[in-house]
Amino acid sequence: MEVLEERIKKDGIVKPGNVLKVDSFLNHQMDPFLFKEMGKEWKARFHGTNISKILTIEASGIGIACVAALCFGLPVVFAKKSIDVPLDDSVYTTKVDSFTKNKCFDVSVSKKYLKEGDKVLIIDDFLANGCAVYGLKDLIEQAGAELMGVGIVIEKGFQEGGKKIREDGIRLESLAIIDSMDPETGEIKFRH
Ligand code: 5GP
Repeated sequence: MEVLEERIKKDGIVKPGNVLKVDSFLNHQMDPFLFKEMGKEWKARFHGTNISKILTIEASGIGIACVAALCFGLPVVFAKKSIDVPLDDSVYTTKVDSFTKNKCFDVSVSKKYLKEGDKVLIIDDFLANGCAVYGLKDLIEQAGAELMGVGIVIEKGFQEGGKKIREDGIRLESLAIIDSMDPETGEIKFRH
């Protein structure tokens, strides 16, 4: 998605440790006009797919998924993160290693909001090693719901997540795929 790549080139800051900061439009200040274009793009790419619900993970996924859900005309649910979820049979729970925080979180979603028969599209801001996506997939499977696809804003194509997800036969639509980024020069190269 050209407008997104331009924005990443203009405002993205490459940090050591394979981290890209995009706080000016995605992860802190948010650009809802760009989010709307992203939502429309996913809606077009998933045209003909029978999706009934969007699922994301707090915190950064929420704003993006909410605007995307408006474009799809669908409800959106976010999985909650905490260090220690109390044992409670009203929720499905899984564990997710956080790439940026270097911690393992319990991630949960209420059984009320994810159910058998739901046809779910996962939306998230970044894809690195795929832990967040596979955690959400686990919650979907626990609920007996169906994973219809994954929409990602920025896939770091030099990390493992995208390859694994595609190899597992899961439909993955990343709006920008970064092939390489250099913390010394700040240069970002995209895959097309
Ligand atoms: P994964 O679970 O695929 O390893 O990492 C994806 C999650 O980690 C995303 O939900 C995102 O919040 C965070 N993340 C991974 N890489 C980056 C990055 O380069 N920049 C930012 N801002 N977040 C990232």
